[in-house]
Amino acid sequence: MRAMVLDKPKQPLQLLDVEKPRPAKGQLLVRIVTCAVCRTDLHVVDGELPDSKLPLIPGHQIVGYVEEVGPENPSSFAIGDRVGIPWLGWTDGECVYCRSNRENLCDRGRFTGYTIDGGYAEFTVADARFCFHLPDRYNDVEVAPLLCAGLIGYRSYRKTGDARRIGMYGFGNAAILIAQIALYEGRDLFVFTRPGDMETQQSARAQGAKWAGGSDELPPEKLDAAIIFASVGPLVPAALRALAKGGIVVCGGIHMSDIPSFPYVDLWEERVITSVANLTRRDGEEFFEIAPRVPVQTETETFPLEQANTALDRFRAGELSGTAVLLVSKSGHAERSEGPHTGSEEHPN
Ligand SMILES: [Zn+2]
Ligand SMILES: [Zn+2]
Repeated sequence: MRAMVLDKPKQPLQLLDVEKPRPAKGQLLVRIVTCAVCRTDLHVVDGELPDSKLPLIPGHQIVGYVEEVGPENPSSFAIGDRVGIPWLGWTDGECVYCRSNRENLCDRGRFTGYTIDGGYAEFTVADARFCFHLPDRYNDVEVAPLLCAGLIGYRSYRKTGDARRIGMYGFGNAAILIAQIALYEGRDLFVFTRPGDMETQQSARAQGAKWAGGSDELPPEKLDAAIIFASVGPLVPAALRALAKGGIVVCGGIHMSDIPSFPYVDLWEERVITSVANLTRRDGEEFFEIAPRVPVQTETETFPLEQANTALDRFRAGELSGTAVLLVSKSGHAERSEGPHTGSEEHPN
């Protein structure tokens, strides 16, 4: 099968012909149709995350169709079903975290496109227990970005509890998806961009933000919560200063530059800083239940599998107008086919 393979960090992926995987016990063999590109893929390719499998097939927002079911399939998936494969690929089910509903923190967790091979390829195998059924409302391109930007963004959002005034630092793929849910649930949204990025501030206001400004500004009201989507450490003390008493700063990314020191008074009065790591299957079930009701819309830009390096380069340079989605093969079932998946999908707002 064709695959885009990372041999060593800081090098372009190579298009290789590798052996098609075979499903082991409890696994599905999935023919991949699309795979969205996540910022974490960039961190892996650029060597900012240690200990990845090498050589590695990246990609953890995978949409495909079940081609073969391995022995002892305990899941509800059958041959021909559409399937979504996320970042969390496997857990041991027995460590202290797994036994306390925190499988996202599993001591031996394995991650798709990082410690196990992912979706920049024609086929993959996945543990059926960690795969999702995807809402019919979305086609194979639209749904791909929901599998990480959506899911882990949703986990960050849930950490804000019932915060009424929510700030978002960075307004990229994940923030745009989660903003739609926040507005649907009646929250007041405050968006912070790079200082001077009027275009993004404008589009945040058009989407429904109550206020949008630079990350060097303070919002007109104190915030009950802030989610940091950009991987920029100095945003943490900046967000802390924007919080009301008892507010929370949620760091939504897997990697961030160092956080500068700040005076204790900024944390005082029960303000909290936390991070979000990975996802649980429950996050996924909840998210895929709410997303089609909002409905959360994704904006995508598509690339053939062979152009994964171009997609990564343009992502790194901030030149994408939506989430990059790799087109791997044609859609699966005739009855599922929803037309050609080429070109950008316009955001309706
Ligand atoms: Zn565990
Ligand atoms: Zn991701």
